[in-house]
Amino acid sequence: MKAIRVREFGPPGTMKIEEVSDPAPGPGQVVVAIRAAGVNPVDTYVRAGTYARKKPDLPYTPGFDGAGIVESVGAEVTRVKPGDRVYINGTLTGSYAEKALCPEGNVYPLPPRLTFAQGAGVYVPYATAAHAIFHVARCRPAETILIHGASGGVGTAATQIAKAAGMRVIGTAGTPRGLELVTAQGAHFAINHRSESYAEQIAAATGGRGPDVILEMLANVNLARDLTMAAFRGRIVVIGNRGTIEISPRDAMAKDVSIHGMMLLNITPDESTQLDAILAAGLENGVMTPVVGREFLLAEAARAHEAVLEPGAYGKIVLVP
Ligand code: NAP
Repeated sequence: MKAIRVREFGPPGTMKIEEVSDPAPGPGQVVVAIRAAGVNPVDTYVRAGTYARKKPDLPYTPGFDGAGIVESVGAEVTRVKPGDRVYINGTLTGSYAEKALCPEGNVYPLPPRLTFAQGAGVYVPYATAAHAIFHVARCRPAETILIHGASGGVGTAATQIAKAAGMRVIGTAGTPRGLELVTAQGAHFAINHRSESYAEQIAAATGGRGPDVILEMLANVNLARDLTMAAFRGRIVVIGNRGTIEISPRDAMAKDVSIHGMMLLNITPDESTQLDAILAAGLENGVMTPVVGREFLLAEAARAHEAVLEPGAYGKIVLVP
């Protein structure tokens, strides 16, 4: 089968498509014929060798999210059978490939209403958004949430979830097309984070109170201003960050604002079970509908890694073998 291989950490061009042997399932394992692989920003940090967590042993095949059809199952597998449509959250061999070997517990049914490309956009974006909203910020209905970066994978997911949970949603994007997408996902207000007056627009949208919750996709740019914008007892969740920033702790003190960092990898087994239940319900009842903005061929993985870091996000980027 064909798979993307990284033989040394570095720029996107270090990813090459190669012929590798097909995986075979051991006990409790499943081989999925991948029809689409989700491209997440974290894939680029791992490939570059800058990711804070443990680096994979080289060579490796990137990719965490994906969707496809179960090709074969090992002994003792009960959750799925060959021919099932599934999405996955993690593999033993990487999802940027024609086939992926997965522990049975990482394979979930893909509802018929979703395409494989949409299935590849489920786990990391929706689990991150749901964890931020329900576990970290402990959001309540009727609160106002600012999704600061609502046009990308996590942001569109968060917008759909927060809207369905009865929150008042303000979403930001950096392009007219992104703003249209934010509105189409159900946000009550769509505001351009590249506008000089965006903070004033957010203040106006909240009657001067500020958002109760801010989901922040680019904390190294926005955290200082978030502290000044948040409502009394507001909660800021740092989801994305690509550098350092100077903040005034006084801005946090003045309104009892709290800053919560989070990493999806840090979820507890209980939280993981709860997220599985939230995703199963949301995929079934239609609240969660991934938006796929761009598809690249597997061989174009390097281009997809450049695209996912460029401005002008529009939902998910996926790779198709
Ligand atoms: P994505 O699809 O590339 O979307 C990036 C989002 O950030 C877009 O909405 C983009 O808007 C927005 N953005 C760009 N400049 C911004 C600014 N100055 N202020 C506010 N937003 C801005 O990425 P993603 O998959 O949604 O992930 C978002 C971030 O969360 C990434 O940094 C990712 O690494 C991180 N993440 C963290 C976790 C975790 O466990 N903590 C999990 C998943 C993702 P425009 O392009 O329209 O400007």
